[in-house]
Amino acid sequence: MSDLLSRAIARSGAPAPGADARRGISASCIHCTLPILGAPCLWVEFEGRQRPVCCAGCQAVFNVVVAHGMTDLYRERNAGAA
Ligand SMILES: [Zn+2]
Repeated sequence: MSDLLSRAIARSGAPAPGADARRGISASCIHCTLPILGAPCLWVEFEGRQRPVCCAGCQAVFNVVVAHGMTDLYRERNAGAA
């Protein structure tokens, strides 16, 4: 069992064309912009839309940033991505 697991981990480390799609990367964290594996399970609301975050840490920092009115940070990123 552990042998199978280590082989699976070794395989997953090899990048290949289209690897992102096979790994199920569906979105990027609105705060740190890291790709989110699989379906995002943490969300924040930004400008009336639900946006994914990668972890509770980014969710907390996002809330602090918004609470202090520093949303330009995210607005500029979104403008650049669009
Ligand atoms: Zn993040």
